[in-house]
Amino acid sequence: MSKKDYYELLGVDRNVSEDALKKAYRKLAVKYHPDKNPDDKEAEARFKEISEAYDVLKDPKKRASYDQFGHAAFQNGMGGGSYQGGGVDPFDIFREAFGGGGGGGIFEDFFGGGSGHSSNGAQQGSDLRYDLEITLEEAATGTEKQVRYRRHCECKYCQGSGAEPGTSKSVCSTCNGTGQISSNRGFISFRQACPECSGTGQKIDTPCSKCRGEGRVVDQSTVKVKIPAGVHTGSRLRSAGNGEAGINGGPSGDLYIVVIVAEHELFERHDNDLFCEMPIKFSLACLGGTIHVPTLFGKGNLKIVEGTQTGTVFRLRGQGMPHLRGNGQGDLLVRVQVEVPKKLTKDQREKLEAFSEACGDSGNPVPKSFVKKAKNFFK
Ligand SMILES: [Zn+2]
Ligand SMILES: [Zn+2]
Repeated sequence: MSKKDYYELLGVDRNVSEDALKKAYRKLAVKYHPDKNPDDKEAEARFKEISEAYDVLKDPKKRASYDQFGHAAFQNGMGGGSYQGGGVDPFDIFREAFGGGGGGGIFEDFFGGGSGHSSNGAQQGSDLRYDLEITLEEAATGTEKQVRYRRHCECKYCQGSGAEPGTSKSVCSTCNGTGQISSNRGFISFRQACPECSGTGQKIDTPCSKCRGEGRVVDQSTVKVKIPAGVHTGSRLRSAGNGEAGINGGPSGDLYIVVIVAEHELFERHDNDLFCEMPIKFSLACLGGTIHVPTLFGKGNLKIVEGTQTGTVFRLRGQGMPHLRGNGQGDLLVRVQVEVPKKLTKDQREKLEAFSEACGDSGNPVPKSFVKKAKNFFK
């Protein structure tokens, strides 16, 4: 089976900017994410494809190789780097370190904290990011969600030691247990973590059969998150210690939950205000009256004043989104569209003609105010 073009998969141009690429990926990733499409093999396959495509294109070096050699760049070890064609595990998304900086991307990888090696080889686990989509209603009330994700957890079988239970570790012979080796380059001597034991100074004789000596295993985790009322797309919540487990006894990273508030079919959100368009009858606009308007949690009353023009915006105070911090509530802004009847019955037509006559419209179909402004055109 021939592989699809990475750019085509993401639906972008070959000269797409990094930003636009990220946006395109983010949109598709949200759509095909397995969490949203449980048991949908097709979506899963699609998700893998777009993840693989993005994995290559987001890296300027890999992208350049791909532009030059196509998929061949990543086969047979070409293209260099640690990337191996086809070996991407898109479910690794949550394993990508997350560290601060510009929001926007869904599974941005940052290489923030967690890089510090201590003398005993202990290493902090990476932070993880999980993008959680909620509805506008949920954003308005606040909600509690269960987040399921995969991460490296401490191996329970060996309790993170990496050694098969009942076996012991011996002193690393490469570094004599110091965890460091020195190498000389000219007159300068460098010290670095022992590559044999990764700086632990110990050698595992019988690696744990469950984690193959890593001390961590990839497993499903579930975290309950409380989402406060008033959150916005991009709001971040930190769940301390729920990132990747550390290595060699290092502490765990954190899990960051980034909120995405889904678009609503009726309301458009502008900061804490909500906007909605509402058609009203021509006769109501002329005569005035009170109507029901939809609000996020039911309906409210809106008084339409006599002679309301199309495009008029009415404000319903306090019917918008709650403020994330502190008290207060945004407003609901209703923009009315006056609907002109498309078909008239004979009776309606007669009455409207009588109305037109009463207005003195016949023969003067254009309003006087406009004629005055545009008098040059009506000469
Ligand atoms: Zn060593
Ligand atoms: Zn283990």
